Amino acid sequence: GVSSSTNQKVTFKVNSPNVEYTDNQIRSKYTYHTTEVSKVNGQYVAVPKETKYNFSVDTKVPKLGMMLVGWGGNNGSTVTAGIIANRRGLSWQTRRGEQKANYYGSLIMGSTIKLGTDAETRQDVNIPFHDLLPMVHPNDIVIGGWDISKLNLAEAMDRAQVLEPGLKALVGKEMAAMVPLPSIYYPDFIAANQEKRADNILEGTKASMAHVEKIRQDIRDFKAANNLDRVIVQWTANTERFADLIEGVNDTADNLLKAIENGHEEVSPSTVFAVACILEGTPFINGSPQNTFVPGAIELAERHKAFVGGDDFKSGQTKMKSALVDFLINAGIKLTSVASYNHLGNNDGKNLSEQRQFRSKEISKSNVIDDMVEANTVLYAPGEKPDHTVVIKYMPAVGDDKRALDEYYAEIFLGGHQTISLFNVCEDSLLASPLIIDLVLITELFTRIQWKAVSTDGAATKDFEGFHSVLSVLSYMLKAPLTPPGTPVVNALAKQRSALVNIMRGCLGLQPESDMTLEHKLF
Ligand code: NAD
Repeated sequence: GVSSSTNQKVTFKVNSPNVEYTDNQIRSKYTYHTTEVSKVNGQYVAVPKETKYNFSVDTKVPKLGMMLVGWGGNNGSTVTAGIIANRRGLSWQTRRGEQKANYYGSLIMGSTIKLGTDAETRQDVNIPFHDLLPMVHPNDIVIGGWDISKLNLAEAMDRAQVLEPGLKALVGKEMAAMVPLPSIYYPDFIAANQEKRADNILEGTKASMAHVEKIRQDIRDFKAANNLDRVIVQWTANTERFADLIEGVNDTADNLLKAIENGHEEVSPSTVFAVACILEGTPFINGSPQNTFVPGAIELAERHKAFVGGDDFKSGQTKMKSALVDFLINAGIKLTSVASYNHLGNNDGKNLSEQRQFRSKEISKSNVIDDMVEANTVLYAPGEKPDHTVVIKYMPAVGDDKRALDEYYAEIFLGGHQTISLFNVCEDSLLASPLIIDLVLITELFTRIQWKAVSTDGAATKDFEGFHSVLSVLSYMLKAPLTPPGTPVVNALAKQRSALVNIMRGCLGLQPESDMTLEHKLF
């Protein structure tokens, strides 16, 4: 039967000739249906196609560590306090009464998926997302990381001004003992106004192999000290400026390694972290908008079969945008402009008040409607796009409670117009922290999934292998999803969610929940 308990390892079983449970694996045979379209004499011809996949999921959940770059920032200190509060089952007083720790805002911990239809009642059976496949529980994650600021995590939490005093008092002692490791700081990459923070830094202001080796050693030490099976590293440090893409410097894996050896000034700290993680076989996720994954870094990840994901957490304004624009355009309403204003008063806002760092954010915020616009060839001519403007201003008074104002202007029937104005107060770090957790849980799960393909023409992959290095299944959590080179980017929020859910179902030999519900329509 179905149980919603989170302690149990397997809360349901699939009963199917295509699914086998062994002591340490779930093995499934899955038939993937697609439609292949070709153009013949000016006409589309659609051909149903099927590919058979074998999936294998290791069911042993590892002891997991998460290392954050920018651990002492608003996100880093908030997610740390949040995990401790949940682990200890804390509750505290606020002006609205008692508040209990929870994981609201986490896709994995806070949402459910439809498993199927109840055999007797014909009602939907929903289970917690976390129970779909064996996953790490966030309460069990060991946290560590780096910061260019040496404040301990209790002081960092005070500096962030995000959490209630009642909660801070309960976790303060434990967090005071957590101190970020010194990090790499190349001043040209983040705003000059961050310089005062930088009192916990490694020697050297340009990329070097010594930095790569030091980061690798830090990961190994953390793993050993905490007896971990696996570590995942996530960049939640300041937004950097874009690195220039230069032939011979960051275009290939070998050139990038050489550029690091030679201390080339266009190699950013985030790219040095990424390279260290790739060489160490540690998944690396970029939560900020800069182009950490220069082509050479992607090639290096592919070469080492190391997992990377990015870019830029999709938490507030953009998450709304990727749901709302999907709705409008798929409703046949012609969106003609989107104007997005933000003001925020936290250190992220301060860093983004410089042009080059703002530019990174502007780019990642601007491309999020492209796939939806391009798909609708009825409303938009080839190359036609809605006007789209993004403005960000630093306003210290509002602190971490970012204001996001959006106007969506659209053309409706017979020349009429629909104007939607949104005022979205995003408590930024409280929205981003659950995403940091989801990114880690999903990435970890995908390190345990292997697949093998047999297509209709008989071509088969020989051995089981892992997913492509670029983990595009993380897209739901990210503003500018990184995808394997040459593959389409999906920004639409609902599609991103169903991709993840349905791949996980495939691992259990279950078809996607298609929402056809013919069982309720044809008797
Ligand atoms: P923050 O400024 O509070 O924290 C960043 C931390 O990184 C600081 O403590 C800083 O000292 C540290 N840092 C800077 N350079 C470093 C380096 N080279 N190595 C180690 N540490 C370094 O910012 P935040 O609010 O926590 O946001 C973090 C990042 O996440 C930002 O880039 C932001 O744009 C991005 N982001 C946040 C949200 C959100 O909060 N909702 C959404 C999307 C993206």
